[in-house]
Amino acid sequence: MEDPKLTPSYDQDRAVAKRNMNSESFRLVTSLLGKYMDGTLPLRLHCECGRVGCDDIINLTLEQRREALRMFQQDFIVVREHIDEVKGDKVLFNAANYVVVKKPIVDRDYRGKRQ
Ligand SMILES: [Zn+2]
Repeated sequence: MEDPKLTPSYDQDRAVAKRNMNSESFRLVTSLLGKYMDGTLPLRLHCECGRVGCDDIINLTLEQRREALRMFQQDFIVVREHIDEVKGDKVLFNAANYVVVKKPIVDRDYRGKRQ
């Protein structure tokens, strides 16, 4: 039986939606910056977990973000406390301030949602 403390209300569509929103924001920022892009620029990212009510923000640099997108485009950046191993999250990458996890979900049209 699952421990409810480990699995608060969870919505995988929410995780995917937050990831898509973060990706769109990043594309917007990089297109606006163009050649003035500086890898040390601080960015704020929404935690891409699926917990209902999670508003946590992850602070990382533009270069960290670009690297995470390059290596883990289909995966999720979450705060360490929001890894949900009971739901099958697998840690792919550990940074000081965030973790990249693979979620065992069917990734419906991730690309299709990017307009
Ligand atoms: Zn979260």
